[in-house]
Amino acid sequence: MKQRLLFLGPPGAGKGTQAERLAASQGLLHLSTGDLLRGEVAAATELGCEAEAVMARGELVSDGLVLAIVRSRLEGHSGGWLLDGFPRNLAQAEALNSLLEDLAQQIELVVLMELDDDRLIQRLLGRGRADDNEAVIRHRLEVYREQTEPLISYYRQRQLLEPVEASGSVEAIAARILELTS
Ligand code: ADP
Repeated sequence: MKQRLLFLGPPGAGKGTQAERLAASQGLLHLSTGDLLRGEVAAATELGCEAEAVMARGELVSDGLVLAIVRSRLEGHSGGWLLDGFPRNLAQAEALNSLLEDLAQQIELVVLMELDDDRLIQRLLGRGRADDNEAVIRHRLEVYREQTEPLISYYRQRQLLEPVEASGSVEAIAARILELTS
């Protein structure tokens, strides 16, 4: 079983749902930068106050801020992990590489969840989170195309990438992902 995983894919593809499930069943640490940032916003920490407006616009929070969050959680954790929503651009991917070098760890698998735009937007509109109105959703998809999509070829070149069709039932998708990790 692979122990060090990244989940990649557009907003609405169901990364969070699948990541949570897989992490729970395999005993991995689930790190969702989106969830962690929302936690900081809710607790009104300095970091949360810095991130709140950026998130509401559907843009990316600064690399340094997000990296600090990930670093603090991976350092001192010896078991497997699943990163969900990070890295989200090439600078974050490079920063993750050097962090993992420091920790003498390696990514074992990058799961790419794929779904067409119509269904992504449908799902996000049904979710009703603060940053889930149509204009912000469209902007988040643009940010994904521009900044995050280059990571697909980045990890493909490193022979880590496995695409998964993210349509169908939660169970069916989970089964596809489980097959890739074992
Ligand atoms: P989704 O995948 O639906 O866009 P997330 O919960 O992953 O939702 O992210 C919500 C918001 O949190 C993003 O739009 C962005 O503002 C911020 N965010 C999450 N992860 C990162 C990251 N790695 N780098 C920068 N900003 C991030």
